[in-house]
Amino acid sequence: MKTSRNDQCPCGSGKKYKNCCQEKRFQDNDGNKQIRWIISGAIGFFMVLIFWGIFQSFTTDRPEMEAYKCDNPQCNQIHYRQVTQP
Ligand SMILES: [Zn+2]
Ligand SMILES: [Zn+2]
Repeated sequence: MKTSRNDQCPCGSGKKYKNCCQEKRFQDNDGNKQIRWIISGAIGFFMVLIFWGIFQSFTTDRPEMEAYKCDNPQCNQIHYRQVTQP
């Protein structure tokens, strides 16, 4: 059932619908939508920054390591050394 703008508001306030919940609902929808867009945009932006920072720290700061066997035939340990880039 549709409430017309000049009917009494179904919330029981005694005001006309256009001066009560219709107006509030309209303002809520309009304002919240913009705020939500801004917040989700900001969160998305920071998430990208954080992931980019993690990605950068993995690719630039940490040298790549490789396992190798040493010359000692008695040695059963696995050694790690930095991969030398050509
Ligand atoms: Zn109302
Ligand atoms: Zn060794």
